[in-house]
Amino acid sequence: MNPARYVGRFAPSPTGPLHFGSLVAAVASFLDARAAAGCWLVRMEDLDRPRCEAGAADTILRQLEAYGLLWDGDVLYQSRRDDAYAAALDALRARGAVYPCACTRSQLAQAPRNAEGEILYPGTCRNGLPPGAIPRAWRVRVPDSDVGFHDRIHGDLRQNLAHDVGDFIVRRADGLFAYQLAVVVDDAFQGITHVVRGADLLWNTPRQIYLQGRLGLATPVYAHVPLITNAAGQKLSKQTLAPPLPAAGQGAVLAAALAVLGQRPPPALEDAAPAELLAWAGAHWRIESVPLRPAIANPAA
Ligand code: GLU
Repeated sequence: MNPARYVGRFAPSPTGPLHFGSLVAAVASFLDARAAAGCWLVRMEDLDRPRCEAGAADTILRQLEAYGLLWDGDVLYQSRRDDAYAAALDALRARGAVYPCACTRSQLAQAPRNAEGEILYPGTCRNGLPPGAIPRAWRVRVPDSDVGFHDRIHGDLRQNLAHDVGDFIVRRADGLFAYQLAVVVDDAFQGITHVVRGADLLWNTPRQIYLQGRLGLATPVYAHVPLITNAAGQKLSKQTLAPPLPAAGQGAVLAAALAVLGQRPPPALEDAAPAELLAWAGAHWRIESVPLRPAIANPAA
């Protein structure tokens, strides 16, 4: 593949049908790819088997088609990629970048938390397991230094992984590989050059960049678009009972997604079909117009 070519992706977790918040992320990554005459891939992040819903992956693909978001090539399913994740974990192990951890959830209940509410691992198993302890998860050792990156919407950001995240999990106690490892392995495998996704993942990016470095993988360019919240200010999700995207009137819903992204189709396109709206939006896409606000209330509610 020509390395100068743009390759973008949309990576939904099939825990349920797409909702307005996931549509906004899909539309942003689709338009950014189309505006650059690039490829747009879909990856099903069905890694966390217990959280996935039967049939949701197919429902998501049908919803994308109904909204005119037609992807290139074959869909990649993370549930079929365990060998690749295991190889990456082996490579990290060979470099001494990871260690086994025996801590249980209840042992970590009192550990401090970061601004996102995630456990800041206190480093209990960092220098070896306590005698007799049974290894459960694998954690990556993080440095006490900043990881910096440029986000196309949020600008220059940096995070100290030791202070803000701690040694994080790459393989869970239940044997499943963690999102942070899988996303890095798959973005590299699919040759992704540009990641456009929801701002809830903004502060996951330094972890991913750090892992890319440890694995000798290229770092894509990142952009994080506003999250959509419900009336209670919560991120739309299955847990917050976000309604699925409507199966009719897609044009109006797409127009609302474009408005959230700061893109303003002309009034003549008010009743346009998805394909027509997306063709206009791809030709006029301006990532500079995407608002910097991390979250926006759902205008489609
Ligand atoms: N699967 C993640 C989600 O649905 C997105 C991961 C990513 O874009 O890196 O929230």
